[in-house]
Amino acid sequence: MKIIMLGAPGAGKGTQAQRIAKDYGIPHISTGDIFRKNLKEETPLGLEAKTYMDRGALVPDDLTIRMLLARIGEADCRNGYVLDGFPRTVPQAEKLTEVLAQTGDKVDFALDVTVPDEDIVERMSGRRSCPGCGRTYHIVYAAPQKEGVCDSCGAALVLRADDAPETVLKRLAVYHEQTEPLIAYYEGQGVLRRIDGTVSMEDVYAQIVALLGEPAEA
Ligand code: AMP
Repeated sequence: MKIIMLGAPGAGKGTQAQRIAKDYGIPHISTGDIFRKNLKEETPLGLEAKTYMDRGALVPDDLTIRMLLARIGEADCRNGYVLDGFPRTVPQAEKLTEVLAQTGDKVDFALDVTVPDEDIVERMSGRRSCPGCGRTYHIVYAAPQKEGVCDSCGAALVLRADDAPETVLKRLAVYHEQTEPLIAYYEGQGVLRRIDGTVSMEDVYAQIVALLGEPAEA
């Protein structure tokens, strides 16, 4: 099963994608996480991406597409994946469609998690991320068991530079301009499904399971 998570930054896509991956046994592929990992390791890719990420802009399509195609070509992606943060532009989506079509394949579901902009700004100011394993938390809605510490790997949680309020506003503007057109794109492919992202995380996930069908080994 090949799933794409659409929705503004901060809509909760990452949290839902992690859970889908676990329950449905497919890898969770977050382009943002891959960029951050490269940044931490100071690879050329990471250093180039940083200049865009820090100001809330998108990393250029050619770089992003190359990286994503390499990832979905790995063995663990044979039975599908959940993409979180890709595609973010129409050219990215077109390239993915083209590459999948080469093997007679296509995206099965594009899940659009919708949340109004006002809610996004409030949510993101409380977001904390684990620099060790990439897991995300919220100080009110999804707090770790021990304040400031990752439940999964024990690293100290941080407020990402791109979650700072002024960067959030810029990322929302970029989302509306460059990513929102993907809703119509996937609607045209007949795979778009809308999810109300304003309800609790449990209820968001319940909507997703209702659409995808219960996981085999739940
Ligand atoms: P995220 O963690 O998905 O919010 O991504 C963080 C940042 O990584 C974004 O603000 C972009 O600068 C960059 N990024 C992630 N995915 C993409 C993508 N598909 N295309 C371009 N830039 C991306």
